[in-house]
Amino acid sequence: MSVEIPSPPCSRFLLFIPLAAALWSCATLEPTRTDPPHAAAPEAPGRVRNVILMIGDGMGPQQLGLLFEYAHRAPASIYKDRPVALEQVMDDGRVGLSRHGPAQHLVVDSACSATQLAIGQEALPEMIGLNADGDPVETILEKAKRAGKATGLVSDTRLTHATPAAFAAHQPYRNLENAIAVDMLATAPDVMLSGGLRHWVPGSAAREGSPAHEKLSALVGDALRVTSRREDERDLLAEARAAGYEVVFERSALAQVEGGRVLGLFAHSGMMDGLRNTRAKADPERTEPSLAEMTDQALDILSRDEDGFFLMVEGGQIDWAGHNNDVGLLLHEMIKFDDAVRVVHAWARGREDTLVIITADHETGGLGLSYSGASLPEPRPLPGAAFKERPYKANYNYGALSTLDRLYNQQKPLQKIVEEHGASDDRSPEALARRVREYTGFSLSVDGARAVLASEPNPYLTPGHPYLHAETVPRVDDLEAFFIFAEEVRGNLLARQLAAQQNVVWSTATHTHTPVAVITLGPPAATRPFGGLLHHTELGRLMERALLGP
Ligand code: MG
Ligand code: ZN
Repeated sequence: MSVEIPSPPCSRFLLFIPLAAALWSCATLEPTRTDPPHAAAPEAPGRVRNVILMIGDGMGPQQLGLLFEYAHRAPASIYKDRPVALEQVMDDGRVGLSRHGPAQHLVVDSACSATQLAIGQEALPEMIGLNADGDPVETILEKAKRAGKATGLVSDTRLTHATPAAFAAHQPYRNLENAIAVDMLATAPDVMLSGGLRHWVPGSAAREGSPAHEKLSALVGDALRVTSRREDERDLLAEARAAGYEVVFERSALAQVEGGRVLGLFAHSGMMDGLRNTRAKADPERTEPSLAEMTDQALDILSRDEDGFFLMVEGGQIDWAGHNNDVGLLLHEMIKFDDAVRVVHAWARGREDTLVIITADHETGGLGLSYSGASLPEPRPLPGAAFKERPYKANYNYGALSTLDRLYNQQKPLQKIVEEHGASDDRSPEALARRVREYTGFSLSVDGARAVLASEPNPYLTPGHPYLHAETVPRVDDLEAFFIFAEEVRGNLLARQLAAQQNVVWSTATHTHTPVAVITLGPPAATRPFGGLLHHTELGRLMERALLGP
């Protein structure tokens, strides 16, 4: 859609009214719709030249906590010789919390949450770059660009996926990814690195043997699958080249980019998941860059602009692991994101001209490590005075630290294990139990496998709905309204079967309201306003104020 940007509402200026004035002026000046109640308008941050915003999609405090527990306490932790980068930034910087609810509703999705960060106003679920009335609002990326700064978007999902899209597109719904690609190209951030090639190539490229398919195959080589989701014949890669972009599909080609505009599309849809990423790190031949490598190259290119830059980096598959309730995969997604944080920390540490903001859009899955009544502990001696006469025996199973190593050692995503089983010759429960043992190290009983494989008529059948159209769905016996992603839910059912062995519980296959961390690094004057309790609309306005001034 063409973007008519209305002038900003006066609410954004509330931030800059001194505290006392703001307290009384709230009632008289301000509609509350775009400005959720806050105890006091936070002070204005000091100016910086560069802002690096890192979004762990679905990275609530629980997800951070999983990484910290693994890093500090897994007997074979890979962090034995090196600190967790997220923790280093917390130690060097400042930590606050942010609420993120959408306008008029309780729970946010990634499109709305990223939009609220990008425009500093409330939005409605599934919107991209629009306020709650449905009007397009200029994003921080677009404003930075207009101010002469370099801009970039990096994500390990798809470039047109909700989080990056919200910074450079304006569309009524997140699923309009073909239109989002057109918008993003028109917005033209200098650096765009992600997956999602399928939304940038002519529709006929989906047909093997078609001229478009042949042309694209020759262009991308063996690096990635050639297909298209477009419903028109626009070749956005050609349009990007005409607009001055270097277009790359492989890690080695990205490494050779020396500056200027770059569009990197490294997968037909989402990029490597965390488990593949961990294994691939050691492979010099791999064609997909890691999130850390894309971040590194983006910083290298953007930092050449004397006017400064705005960069958004998303660890987007933390959310996907959360939707699937896959704690082993989640741990590896957190490690992947932390690797990118390490790159940013190394680049930004000690700089006076850069504000780093690490946050999330929401929590996904309602995750918890949890104690249970399964496998109760044996009595054991303790050296202390209170246990001279008797052994120590807790009444419940509080979880073994070695479980953290077992979670790390998972070999495949739970959903993939179930999918491969469904596509195999032997689809018996016994065969599923063997697969689960092989790829997770945890055991699944034959009865448990039957529960994972059971189906029922879809209680929420909705013809035409992207997920709820399926006539039969995996059988969920409780909270089934929250497990609504059709066949994918079998992975969630498997997670439940492993829960007691893993001391891990999940409450939903969707998102929760849990406030998320806001971790900032930079000159104290710039980070100070980010230390309290914010809402993402305020976080967005403060970030913009730090980068671009009033
Ligand atoms: Mg996302
Ligand atoms: Zn999500």
